[in-house]
Amino acid sequence: MQKNQVLELEIEDLSYEAMGVAHYEGITVFVNNALPGEIVRAKILKVKKSFAFARIEAIIKESPDRITVKLNQWVQTGLASLAHLTYDKQLDFKRKQVVNLLQKAHLDQIKVGQTVASPEETGYRNKAQVPVRRVKGQLEIGFFRKHSHDLVPLDNFFTTDPEIDRVLLAVRDILRKNQVPAYDELRHKGEVRYLEVRRSRATGEIMVILICLHKDFPQLKKVAKEISQIRDVVSVVLNHNPQKTNVILGKKDYLLAGKAQIVDKIGDVEFRISPKSFFQINSLQTPRLYQLAIDKANLTKEDVVIDAYSGIGTIGLSVAKHVKEVRGIEIIDDAVKDANNNAKLNTINNASYVTGKAEEIMPQWAKDGLKTDVIFVDPPRKGLTEDFIKAAAATEPKKIVYISCNPATQVRDLQMFMELGYSFEEIDPVDMFPQTPHVESVTVLERQK
Ligand code: SAH
Repeated sequence: MQKNQVLELEIEDLSYEAMGVAHYEGITVFVNNALPGEIVRAKILKVKKSFAFARIEAIIKESPDRITVKLNQWVQTGLASLAHLTYDKQLDFKRKQVVNLLQKAHLDQIKVGQTVASPEETGYRNKAQVPVRRVKGQLEIGFFRKHSHDLVPLDNFFTTDPEIDRVLLAVRDILRKNQVPAYDELRHKGEVRYLEVRRSRATGEIMVILICLHKDFPQLKKVAKEISQIRDVVSVVLNHNPQKTNVILGKKDYLLAGKAQIVDKIGDVEFRISPKSFFQINSLQTPRLYQLAIDKANLTKEDVVIDAYSGIGTIGLSVAKHVKEVRGIEIIDDAVKDANNNAKLNTINNASYVTGKAEEIMPQWAKDGLKTDVIFVDPPRKGLTEDFIKAAAATEPKKIVYISCNPATQVRDLQMFMELGYSFEEIDPVDMFPQTPHVESVTVLERQK
């Protein structure tokens, strides 16, 4: 097989990244934008020892599950790499990811629920973070083409709240009008690197964050004022990122106009959100995710709950009214302050948060005599550490509720919990990110006698 060769391929499966999978002379070929059951003519872009990447030249036989995507760029950029698949089949695809992982781990007896659909299939994101670059002489916002830093200009972000798109375009136009230079990655010059816009569904408040190379530039004051006059914008922040790096946000935030936080809600609990706060992206689906976890865990008024990996307290504060006490642990001090303030804001008196590593704090609490009934975990994509899993099991809670944004690491971690005396019967996938291959899943581990 060679680069630029054109082959006829039959697509057998979808990879976890939503690429069509075919086989040719013993080599696995990943075909962008192809669906199972399709026969395509594809051009080889890259060949490695046992696998290759290809691009569709023509679809010879089309899948009945394919739908027309209004903008090709949504699939090209990875912004919505499943947009060409009907929503029902997207839900099946997500469930199958979990089923396959369990099979590989020889856990076929575990039940996998139907993927819980998102109330909105598009326009569900409450936050957008988009690169700003100069393209053909003009400042543009958009998305990078997959595996590259070539900006594909966009004026419709599809999965983002349309009100956020409106503000993104208005800010883009203000930057253009004031001739603010876009960041030039090669020469590490220019001003605006990224735009971030967050919007609260509950209150309609909007925060705009300009992520900039320098913390000041000649047009900044004027630009900040104009941005603050866009309808519903209540907060304008500059994030200073002077580094030559792919990391989007810098360390320091400067408030340029309005207030430092916006208020959002999950169910009936209010949250104040700062520029760097982690907040669940799909505002309408999050309360359903938490309710599912609460229902599956059968919480009672006697329960003492630990919210490990607590962020700004969203899970703990959502379960507080169902239980006796919630104690949260989070490594980012600002998030801990937000969590404690959020408890106060909602007059929730039985929840408190501390700064530290969960794997270090939990054993201390156990030593101090705390009896924990339930531990909630919601870790980042890399999952839990071995230290955490051992510390959690040693705390001997009756139940561990594991919410995951990456079923691969979840299944790995669940196996380790099994070795430490916990078992589980079911995993429930929840769709937090329609049009993308991301899978969220919930499971409840129970301690064996
Ligand atoms: N439960 C929250 C946040 C989930 S994101 C919500 O749903 O909104 C995961 C969080 O875990 C991040 O805020 C991260 O800072 C935190 N974290 C990562 N490692 C940790 C550790 N070892 N101990 C405690 N918190 C940790």
